[in-house]
Amino acid sequence: MATESSVHSARELAERLARISGIEIRRDEPLARHTSFGVGGPAEILAIPSTLEALSEIVRVATEMRIDPVYLGNGTNLIVRDGGVRGLVVRMAHGLTRIEVEDDVVIAEAGAPLASVCVTAAKHGLSGLCFAAGIPGSLGGALIMNAGANGGEIADVTEWVDVVLPDGAIERIAGSDLSFGYRASALRDRGLVVARAGLRLEPGGHAEQIHFELCDAMELRCAKQPVSMPSAGSIFKRPSGDYAGRLLEAAGAKGMRVGRAAVSTKHANFIVNLGGATASDVIRLIENVRELVYETFGVMLEPEVCMVGEDA
Ligand SMILES: Cc1cc2nc3c(=O)[nH]c(=O)nc-3n(C[C@H](O)[C@H](O)[C@H](O)COP(=O)(O)OP(=O)(O)OC[C@H]3O[C@@H](n4cnc5c(N)ncnc54)[C@H](O)[C@@H]3O)c2cc1C
Repeated sequence: MATESSVHSARELAERLARISGIEIRRDEPLARHTSFGVGGPAEILAIPSTLEALSEIVRVATEMRIDPVYLGNGTNLIVRDGGVRGLVVRMAHGLTRIEVEDDVVIAEAGAPLASVCVTAAKHGLSGLCFAAGIPGSLGGALIMNAGANGGEIADVTEWVDVVLPDGAIERIAGSDLSFGYRASALRDRGLVVARAGLRLEPGGHAEQIHFELCDAMELRCAKQPVSMPSAGSIFKRPSGDYAGRLLEAAGAKGMRVGRAAVSTKHANFIVNLGGATASDVIRLIENVRELVYETFGVMLEPEVCMVGEDA
């Protein structure tokens, strides 16, 4: 339950943010609308900046008020618990989506959909992003998670990342200094806010051929994954020397259910929302299948999906 002081600080925060131009503010906004799983409670305050200056100001004001915001990209790797997020959620997708190309570097704001980054690169004959075709996140989320597929990952092409420091200043960090690992990065470990990034790609390709390769990768994905159902992609990381999907399928997890959440019958490492699932259904199902794999194979799977907020 909100205390009197938290009500005051939420009101004060909303008032201060409202004075900054380039920010849309919503109170008690259901976060299920902003995540691909479609589960979870509301954000006490949701701020959607449309310029990098507005994002810097949000970070500066939040630091001043000792508020630790939750940053949301496109919400495709995120479970928001049913009690929602008390305090501030900053949504990067939809507002910060500018993309430009300088020589063989694609420069995009954190909220730019990875799909648009891929298409822009292809139009300019720049290759190297085929692995990202069909990953439904934003560029910022991809950098935080070091998103990847089919042997490629965003780390491979990251030239630099602009991050917002707690005082609102922007600092440029070279990709080589970001200690990227499998679904891991220094950006995530250090809780940095991604504002913009430059991706160095391979020039000299033919736009049509690159488009064709992107479409091919998408088709392959559609054949293997339940892309038409609400989910957050792979629930678990790949354990050393094996695949989470293989272990889950062999343990008999496919089709297991809690409430309206079910393990996909198409890909065992996907949990899907059958319609009307709660975050607690999804989280209980994750725990159940994790336990099942541990009991069957002695392997403790590690979640890839991020969780934020409070229980109902
Ligand atoms: C159908 C489907 C298929 C998928 N396939 C793949 C795949 O093949 N490979 C893969 O790697 N992933 C895959 N995913 C997962 C997801 O798309 C990726 O992890 C993606 O990179 C997440 O981006 P996002 O913008 O949605 O991040 P979100 O889910 O919004 O956030 C993820 C994390 O990053 C943080 N964050 C987001 N943006 C910022 C920012 N600008 N600054 C600071 N922190 C930020 C959030 O706080 C959170 O901790 C898939 C998901 C779905 C639904």
